[in-house]
Amino acid sequence: MSPRKTRIRNRAVAIFGGTFDPVHYGHLRAAAEIAERLKVSNFRLVPAGRPPHRKATWADPFHRLAMLELAVAPYSDLHVDEREIRRDGPSFMVETLHSVRAEVGDVPLLLCVGQDAANQLDQWHCWRELPRLAHLVVMTRPRSEPHYPASLAEVLEKRRVSRARDLMRSPAGLVCHVEVTQLAISSTDIRRQLARGWDPRFLLPGTVLAYIRKHGLYGTGETSPANG
Ligand code: ATP
Repeated sequence: MSPRKTRIRNRAVAIFGGTFDPVHYGHLRAAAEIAERLKVSNFRLVPAGRPPHRKATWADPFHRLAMLELAVAPYSDLHVDEREIRRDGPSFMVETLHSVRAEVGDVPLLLCVGQDAANQLDQWHCWRELPRLAHLVVMTRPRSEPHYPASLAEVLEKRRVSRARDLMRSPAGLVCHVEVTQLAISSTDIRRQLARGWDPRFLLPGTVLAYIRKHGLYGTGETSPANG
C-alpha cells in the first residue's frame, strides 16, 4: 500500500517496537492499518538491540534490521528506526521515547503495542513514565485478550479513549485500543517452521524469506541464540 499524495496526513509520530525476529505480515499489516487509519505518515518500526524482557534473539541485530528494511522498502509511510540497535545496553522503550520526543517536539507520539505486549507493560523499565511520553495504542492480536494486572489496569483505564482521533489532540497521556486485521502469525512459529525445513511462504514478505535463506538464519545455519 503506497499512500496517495493527496491524502491528508498529520504530524503524529508512531513508534512500534519489537524484536522482529523475523518481521512478518502480522507486524506489517498492523503497522499499515494504524498508519492509514490514524493518518500517520511517520510510522517507525524500532527493532530492539538487546531486548530486556527476553534472554536472546535468534538472528543478529543487523540481520533483523536488514530484514525490516527489506520489508518496508516499498512503502513510503513506514520507516525503520535504528536507534535501539545503535545504542549500547538493553533496549528500554522509555529511553527510546525520551530520545524521539527530544527530536520531534510537541507532536502526538503514539507507542503501538500488540495486546500480548500491552498485558505485560508493567514489566517494562520505568513503565509508569510511559504515559507522560506518549499515547498508547493497543492493537488486537489473535489469542491475546486484554488481561491487565490491577496496578496497570488502573493506570490504563483512567486514560482510555474510544476514538483514535482523540489521540491527535495532545502529545501524550491517552490509551486507545484499536482493532486490526487478525493474523495469527508469530515469529516463533516462523522460526519453528524454518527449523523443521518447512516453507513459511505467505506469512512474511518474499524478500525477507529470501534473505533468511541466503544468510542461513533460523535453523539452516544459526541454530542457537545470537546474543544470549
Ligand atoms: P515472537 O514469536 O518471537 O515472540 P512476535 O511475533 O510476537 O515474536 P515481536 O517482534 O515480539 O513479534 O512483536 C513486536 C510487537 O508486535 C509486539 O507489540 C507484538 O504484540 C506485536 N505483534 C506481533 N505479531 C502480531 C500480530 N500477528 N498481530 C498484531 N500484533 C502483533
